[in-house]
Amino acid sequence: MRSILIAGNWKMNLTVEEARRLALDVRQGLTNLPENIEVVVCPSFVHLSGVNFQLPSSINLGAQDVFWKSNGAYTGEISCEQLLDVGCSYVIVGHSERREYLKETDVMVSSKVLACLKHDLRPIVCVGENKEEREKKLTESKVTQQVELAFKDVKSGDIAKVDIAYEPIWAIGSGEAAEPSDAEAVVILIRQVLKGLFSEKEAEQVRILYGGSVNPQNIASFVLEKDIDGALVGGSSLKANEFVGIVKQVMKI
Ligand code: PEP
Repeated sequence: MRSILIAGNWKMNLTVEEARRLALDVRQGLTNLPENIEVVVCPSFVHLSGVNFQLPSSINLGAQDVFWKSNGAYTGEISCEQLLDVGCSYVIVGHSERREYLKETDVMVSSKVLACLKHDLRPIVCVGENKEEREKKLTESKVTQQVELAFKDVKSGDIAKVDIAYEPIWAIGSGEAAEPSDAEAVVILIRQVLKGLFSEKEAEQVRILYGGSVNPQNIASFVLEKDIDGALVGGSSLKANEFVGIVKQVMKI
């Protein structure tokens, strides 16, 4: 039985004091998490240490990106070892904003996934189609290709150490979430692709989240879908009451 994962992506937001306050408020709002619900917050790199200091062991720390090399002359990059050292156990990989603005490719995503697995850092790998691809009915081919390229070099036995977030790009930050049944269909497709790459048993162990304008009002409709195992939350994770509200809605299910 897969657990539920709710991950907050704080993106490039907040001062040190605001990040500290948000972490404290999330901590105070989520004092009794059940075992089957995992929560992660992903602040900017500069806030990781400070936020880690505020979080209880029941709430995980994640980063928003990682580089595949361990150390050396890679100005501006951050390694798995460095993320582990400041308390991260998760990292978002291949977010659509990085793919779009930083020209991150599927090959780079694959290298990052392999580095994470080597170091026991859990990647949340983002895939999803943009508006134009959706309109041209290319969602299936786009997502299939992203999943195949991200995981083709992952060893059998390692794929269960990965989480995937299906994030239709047009739904991110737009206030227009996908229809839960449409998201469910893509999540089922992702699991089918995993079954082609790994064994059925292994593919069944991978958590697949939905992301895109999730809030306390719509989270239940996603998590009630049989194959959706949680959410990657952007905007609503910046307001403690909304993020805590999302987790509490899941706790009611
Ligand atoms: C995201 O950026 O991963 C995201 C899902 O953002 P939002 O919840 O704001 O749509």
